[in-house]
Amino acid sequence: MNKLNTVIAIDGFSSCGKSTLAKQLAKALRFAYIDSGAMYRAVTYHLIANEIDLTDLEAVDENIKLINIEFKYINNENCIFLNGLDVSDEIRKMYVSEKVSKVSPIRSVRKAMVRVQQSLGETCDIVMDGRDIGTQVFPYATVKLFMTADPKIRAERRHAELLSKNELVTLEEIMTNLAQRDYDDTTREESPLICATDAIVIDNTHLSMAQQFDLAMEIIETNRKKAPDKRPTS
Ligand code: C5P
Repeated sequence: MNKLNTVIAIDGFSSCGKSTLAKQLAKALRFAYIDSGAMYRAVTYHLIANEIDLTDLEAVDENIKLINIEFKYINNENCIFLNGLDVSDEIRKMYVSEKVSKVSPIRSVRKAMVRVQQSLGETCDIVMDGRDIGTQVFPYATVKLFMTADPKIRAERRHAELLSKNELVTLEEIMTNLAQRDYDDTTREESPLICATDAIVIDNTHLSMAQQFDLAMEIIETNRKKAPDKRPTS
């Protein structure tokens, strides 16, 4: 992380609205926005599309070397490209959601993604959301937020989002997927989802998007001014 760059790290459970909030904050602050979950989804999509056995770690390691991930703004949308192909919509589908938390704990996958994430943080001020941003990727982030919400509310929001994209899944399927991903993400050995000790928790169960945004901005403005530089000096 460059001395001059500001990093807002947003971690939390699946479908807590992290990406929505992160996008809004990045826009208001004029920072870049990086969706780290989309990167793990893109890797998962690549492995599925190439019919790689996800338990074959050697094959996964080899494939990771063949993956190039880029973010580009197109029509005001932050799109993710996998080896030159826009996969922004494809990676949100259920068949990817069902496998992503099996791919994200793989050490070689995490190493490669964290390297890209940290180098993106070197280039400009950013808002990045994920599971380990405040704990592993940017332990010295300027402000860390940790988001949570009632599981039923999270599933209902995700259900509405997928239906609006004509993906016909049941609320039960989504609840099962979220519970499984929460379990996998919090219990894995590699960079488990935990709340950093210096993160500020936002429970948005009863917050509208506007209320959540106002609260986050207030937290950021307050903490940004008084944020001590936590980076080691050496
Ligand atoms: O944020 P999203 O739900 O799209 O993330 C998909 C999956 O990617 C998560 O369930 C988690 O397994 C993985 N992930 C991760 N570390 C991150 C971001 C996402 O392990 N920083």
